[in-house]
Amino acid sequence: MTDIDKPINFIQQVINADLEAGTVKKVITRFPPEPNGYLHIGHAKSICVNFGIAEQYDGACNLRFDDTNPAKEDEEYVHAIIEDVRWLWPQWQGDICYASNYFDQLYSWAQYLINEGKAYVCELNAVDMREYRGTLTEVGKNSPFRDRSASESLALLEQMKVGEIDEGRMTLRAKIDMASPNINMRDPVMYRIKKMAHQRTGDKWNIYPSYDFAHGQEDAIEAVSHSICTLEFAANRPLYEWFVANLPLPSTPHQYEFGRLNLNYTVTSKRKLKQLVDENHVEGWDDPRMPTISGLRRRGVSAHSIREFCDSLAVAKTDGVVDIAQFEHFIRDDLNNNACRAMCVINPVLVTLTNYSADKNEEFVVPGHPNRDDLGERSLPFSSQIYIDRNDFSEDTTLSRKKFKRLVIGDYVRLRSAYIIRADEVIRDASGEISEIIASIVPDTVGQDAPEGIKARGVIHWVSASKSADCTVKIYDRLFNKAAPDAGDENFLDNINPESLKVIEGCKVEVGLLDAQAGDHYQFEREGYFTRDSKSTRDSKGSELAFNCTIGLRDNWKA
Ligand code: ATP
Ligand code: MG
Repeated sequence: MTDIDKPINFIQQVINADLEAGTVKKVITRFPPEPNGYLHIGHAKSICVNFGIAEQYDGACNLRFDDTNPAKEDEEYVHAIIEDVRWLWPQWQGDICYASNYFDQLYSWAQYLINEGKAYVCELNAVDMREYRGTLTEVGKNSPFRDRSASESLALLEQMKVGEIDEGRMTLRAKIDMASPNINMRDPVMYRIKKMAHQRTGDKWNIYPSYDFAHGQEDAIEAVSHSICTLEFAANRPLYEWFVANLPLPSTPHQYEFGRLNLNYTVTSKRKLKQLVDENHVEGWDDPRMPTISGLRRRGVSAHSIREFCDSLAVAKTDGVVDIAQFEHFIRDDLNNNACRAMCVINPVLVTLTNYSADKNEEFVVPGHPNRDDLGERSLPFSSQIYIDRNDFSEDTTLSRKKFKRLVIGDYVRLRSAYIIRADEVIRDASGEISEIIASIVPDTVGQDAPEGIKARGVIHWVSASKSADCTVKIYDRLFNKAAPDAGDENFLDNINPESLKVIEGCKVEVGLLDAQAGDHYQFEREGYFTRDSKSTRDSKGSELAFNCTIGLRDNWKA
């Protein structure tokens, strides 16, 4: 489907109407993560929606850090988020904004509301405040501090700010309506005391604004025209609009909500992902099993496939759970088109070719990709000793040719892009395991059909024994073995798949892959798609070369 054929979503409909009516001149969106964790696949959808709309309408999208809660935030997360956004949306040139840059402005707007009789310093403690708030079925009660004078509130707010009041003793609240059916409108908190240094503003503040008091005002400062967030903020919208209506803001932004992306077999809550990291269930935020953008990148998933996947999802007003197989379809499709082919023998057994001279060396030049000339060629060195995979060999001569299209003792198989060979005998080690297969080549079969009377069972992959590199291969399975690992009463930690990582040392790969870089994509023929691990350390066999399996070859997803 081309972009032109694609039905427009409800946000695009709103934008088109706003542009037509002239109420919006330039479309400005923002992506506002809180720097309290790494970005995950759910954030990717939000990035694609916000940056995508800005691009489509020739507008702009700001990356804005919603850094209003120093208790949970960290510079490490700020750096990681910038790296992830730049990777996912490389053409982005926009500004990096910080809510904390607006703290002075927010404070003066708080003073403005106090002067207008629309905010007050409240001394109810947390328990009483909850009690006074009422419930969904019961209206709330006015705070006894609600009618204190503006000058008293202004003085107390200043004392809160400079650190003269203890944490929990006072808050600044908007004076709205304690009987509102929407609990968010029952005199919501605008500022809390937190005697804590902030990663960017240092010790300047002892109070920090609430999400609700900050978000719409930040949007207004940045002239955001369409503030797009997820559905859980729908009940906050009246409050967003109340602040916009009651403050002298430089612009009047509007909030729109769309459904979160949830994936089965996955958790997409920063809190839970952080727990996986903190409790060492995974290697870190960028563990290739994590649904984080950095984990997906390290796993070998391309930014392009993440964007294509997000683009395939509806931008709708309902939440839904997407089948992980749909994501995998896009990952595989992209790799099939773009990954260079290579051969890696994961479970090697030595094959000695008795009729191929030990000092002979040939090089077979083969394409990097079967239908992408632009990906060049590679050279496969061939010699009298090669490795094939143990699983590609059997001594069982009764195996049908249809079922076992590999090497069987006494029978023929083709080595990919090389000779047809026949297995003649095996050599065993002291434990009885096959240590070597003795075989012979069928001459003149490179790039040529088998001679009369010889029929190869199939085609298998191989590497030269002397001209290959040792490597480690890491194979990943789903991190959770339940489709809804954190639904209802489930403790997601109980649903961790204990077999989600398999590390296989002593694999043999084409020697050219010694130069592979993290982020280069390969299809290891007959095995799957791989990329070099950006964080590998020396394995027990001394090799520093390690590959992450991004995904297997088979696609079962049907659109
Ligand atoms: P989490 O629930 O994982 O902690 P969050 O919403 O608290 O996420 P923020 O850093 O506040 O994380 O999110 C930044 C933006 O990304 C917000 O606009 C939020 O709506 C959006 N977002 C977060 N999770 C998803 C998701 N699963 N699908 C779509 N958008 C999301
Ligand atoms: Mg949030």
